[in-house]
Amino acid sequence: MGEKINRREIPSVTKLVGHRIGKELIQEFGRQEFVSECRKTLEFIRNNSGDFCGVLILEEILEKIKQNLNRKSTKKLKPVINCTGTILHTNLGRAPLSKEVGEVLKDISVGYSNLEFDLETGQRGTRTAGIEEQLNTLLGVEDCAIVNNNAAAVLLVLMTVAKGKEVIISRGQLVEIGGSFRIPEIMEQSGSILKEVGATNKVHLKDYENAITENTCAIMRVHPSNYRITGFTKEVSLAELRELSIKYNIPLIDDLGSGTIVELDKWGVYDEPTVNQSVKIGGDIVTFSGDKLLGGPQCGIIVGKKDYIQKIKKHPLMRALRCDKLVLTALQYTLELYKQDRFNKIPLYKFLERNTVELHRLAKDITRDIPQGTYEIQEDYAYVGGGALPTQEIPTVTIKFKGDYSAKKLSQAFRDQEKPIIGRINQDQFILDLKAVFEEDIPYIQRITTKIWGDMNG
Ligand SMILES: *Cc1c(COP(=O)(O)O)cnc(C)c1O
Repeated sequence: MGEKINRREIPSVTKLVGHRIGKELIQEFGRQEFVSECRKTLEFIRNNSGDFCGVLILEEILEKIKQNLNRKSTKKLKPVINCTGTILHTNLGRAPLSKEVGEVLKDISVGYSNLEFDLETGQRGTRTAGIEEQLNTLLGVEDCAIVNNNAAAVLLVLMTVAKGKEVIISRGQLVEIGGSFRIPEIMEQSGSILKEVGATNKVHLKDYENAITENTCAIMRVHPSNYRITGFTKEVSLAELRELSIKYNIPLIDDLGSGTIVELDKWGVYDEPTVNQSVKIGGDIVTFSGDKLLGGPQCGIIVGKKDYIQKIKKHPLMRALRCDKLVLTALQYTLELYKQDRFNKIPLYKFLERNTVELHRLAKDITRDIPQGTYEIQEDYAYVGGGALPTQEIPTVTIKFKGDYSAKKLSQAFRDQEKPIIGRINQDQFILDLKAVFEEDIPYIQRITTKIWGDMNG
């Protein structure tokens, strides 16, 4: 312990404000924020002066203030780098939009737009007119409604068509999909009555048929999304349910969850039903998310037969659940990429497309300045995520750091950066998974990796 510092040596706030670094911090964080942090830090030094060495260096105090300000700013939304190996990571904002879509968003957000204005007639227009046209072209659907997320979509659909009446659903589909969205609870909230049929692992067509009464108002299928039952199982296909729904003249609701509108076999992904299939088979109402496999903004998309969709749009809650112009712009321009068959511009599809040879090249780039033998480049499996395809392993390449520093510490060091790098911890080891990393972030990751390696070994 050094000699106690003299209280008179503690600088004034004015001195910190006038310093070059102080001025930079004011630029970055604002004067009020900076001054308030100066007061707190100086107060701390005053109260703990015994812990400090004889000489107080102004730059060191300012460095401490900068750290505190940076720590506080981690609560603000900001870009991060996803090295978790989960492409649609719910905690990291699910689907990144295509760059092109981002450009349009910038223009729309800072000016006026024809959100509810028909440029042809000069009259008031509807905010989803353009999207209706696109979904009609892409999926052949009669109509659509767009709400804040798919949870809202399911709620609104049930409130409109099933309030006070029975909805038949298989026991195996009464799922919970992260963040407290549970099908039975949503049904309860909507005021509809859950009529569950079959056993957890098996359900037969006759189970559905036997459950139909004059009080039945819909048959519902829910995609199990984030889990799979395997082994001794049986499901009733959507086509069979469709026949039943026609025979008894009751609507068929299909909650697809992820809702891809392209076949994914090309990328070795086989068990995801497409929206096109559901619509073709004749789901009267089909719901899916905008920010899962579609690669668009967070929203819930309801498509189907005009009669039902019109009723849904007229429900009083529609106004409470509708999307703002930025979401609608992002959705429209994302759908445009599908229409032009350029959906490979959507990051999700870019990442799926990238093979392990390319990923090895990125890994080599990142580790170029750290000594061989202190890390390992390995092939591993990544996941789509976002509650989709939970068992589908996608080949990826990871970087694992050897040495006896703790995985937790390493993970924190990567997080503590200006653009935080979020990796994953696997069997007590910290790894960077490159599956969902943007190419343009590679030089930055390389720099940070080298710096952290130096700090850990220096
Ligand atoms: C993800 C999902 C939802 C909820 O969708 P959000 O867009 O997250 O609100 C509902 N149903 C299914 C089947 C899902 O997979």
